[in-house]
Amino acid sequence: MKISVVNPLTREPLYDFEAMAGKELSAVFEKARKTQKLVGIMSVKQRIDEVVKISKYLIENYKSISDRVVSETGKTQFEALSNEIFEICDNIDYYRDHAEKILKEKTVHTPMILMGKKSKIRFEPMGVALIIAPWNYPLIQCFLPSILAFLAGNSVVFKPSEVTPLKGLYEDILDGAGFLKDAIQIVYGGKETGAALIEQKPDKIHFTGSTRAGKQIMAAAANHLIPVDLELGGKDPAIVFEDVDIEKTANGLVWAAFTNAGQSCTSIERCYIHESIYDAMTEKIVAITKKLRLANQDCEDCEADVGCMTADFQLKKVEMQLKEAIQKGAKILCGGKTISGTQIMPPTVVTDVTADMELIYEETFGPVLPLIKFSTEDEVIDLANDSVYGLSASVWSKDMKRTERVAHALKVGNVAINNHMLTEANPALPFGGIKNSGFGRYKGDFGLHTFSNVKSIISGPNNKVIEPHWYPFTKLKFDTFPLLMKAFFARPRKWVQFALIGMKLDNMGNKEKIKVND
Ligand code: NAD
Repeated sequence: MKISVVNPLTREPLYDFEAMAGKELSAVFEKARKTQKLVGIMSVKQRIDEVVKISKYLIENYKSISDRVVSETGKTQFEALSNEIFEICDNIDYYRDHAEKILKEKTVHTPMILMGKKSKIRFEPMGVALIIAPWNYPLIQCFLPSILAFLAGNSVVFKPSEVTPLKGLYEDILDGAGFLKDAIQIVYGGKETGAALIEQKPDKIHFTGSTRAGKQIMAAAANHLIPVDLELGGKDPAIVFEDVDIEKTANGLVWAAFTNAGQSCTSIERCYIHESIYDAMTEKIVAITKKLRLANQDCEDCEADVGCMTADFQLKKVEMQLKEAIQKGAKILCGGKTISGTQIMPPTVVTDVTADMELIYEETFGPVLPLIKFSTEDEVIDLANDSVYGLSASVWSKDMKRTERVAHALKVGNVAINNHMLTEANPALPFGGIKNSGFGRYKGDFGLHTFSNVKSIISGPNNKVIEPHWYPFTKLKFDTFPLLMKAFFARPRKWVQFALIGMKLDNMGNKEKIKVND
């Protein structure tokens, strides 16, 4: 199948390519399985040295890389630099210092009842990890999970979105950096290629994309019992209380709604503002929004604030949601109409919205900020939680007790206080959602453990002792065992009794062992 790639800003065709299929995919997996044997026996330090090469290459070549990302996504130069290149390097930097500790074998508590034994947890590679990525952050959504999977000792196959394949760029980065050959391989194609990759039976799937595709991928993975992480869509609420600094908060809300032209799973899609500051906050939000510079405006490339929509089908979805909302009584305070002949939807602020509008209950994934009034804390918690999604949220107030309380009550995977999307900026914090936003966590310790076979090991000496819980089960053991339980589970524990009964049981085990005539 031929796939055509266009520059969404200029709408010029960029290139065509054939989606990979069949034997090509088997060959990729064959290589991946072979290379994994090598990756799996490398020390974590050696793997870190490999991924640091990627970071160095990205920093040295940031401009040509961000230009390429901009050409296929239509995002702004600053967004390509900060949300993609910087973030990959920042995560590598974190794991450079922490990966060894996170993946180190851990000794854990062994209870007295298992006296003489030792318990530990090991984090071992799973095998080949398959990463399937969306188009909104094509560089980081492909590279970051791949890097984490590699650090945990896996080889990786990733498939970028057919909308923003960045064909050849990933290989240029890996080869240019001198990264271990074939440890991360790239497969190009659409959803059929993605589905065919699952049939190659990878040992782990990490999927980022829509809830619809996430369900299909989980169903396909279920056939082979492949574990999956699903990072899916969102409908993030921001909750703004009456005591906020209006200027700071309005700036934060505008950025978090329109960054990446709203094409971020964690951009603000519902903004709940306390009724006492609703008018003042609305006025400030609209004033700031109107000042934002769009990608087609006469300014230096790197000074555009808001880019264009990457996919024409997504732009149509945004237009449809706005149309339906207007029909049902919503008012557009600014933006709202695509600039003719382009994929630029100017940042749009909407009021008078109601819960029956798709704009309020379905993911928009575009530069639209609906504002909603609320009066009490309990009411706004219910409103925010009234969603099929549960990715992230933000709470804005000077009252830090209240922000904590509300943060705890929100049914989401991530909350930022007096900011938005900020948990993602800290590589130590796990990221992921609940409900239709998916499950599984990556980043932080989870980022490496999710790509690990978590193996428990308990060991004891090979001496002559026959364990009392082994055969044969005798009446004497049966009558003695409850005495041990009573001593052991008492608080404070009755250690002397426990030790005496324990010894008695041990003796019984040895005395009453099954004797076989040699
Ligand atoms: P999408 O689900 O259409 O596609 C994502 C990827 O999955 C693409 O590579 C596509 O080719 C592949 N794919 C689609 N159907 C498949 C199938 N049945 N089998 C195998 N592969 C399949 O999503 P999109 O339009 O590219 O991205 C937008 C969505 O991604 C939004 O919903 C957004 O919220 C979500 N997203 C979530 C996160 C997160 O971390 N939670 C981050 C970014 C984007």
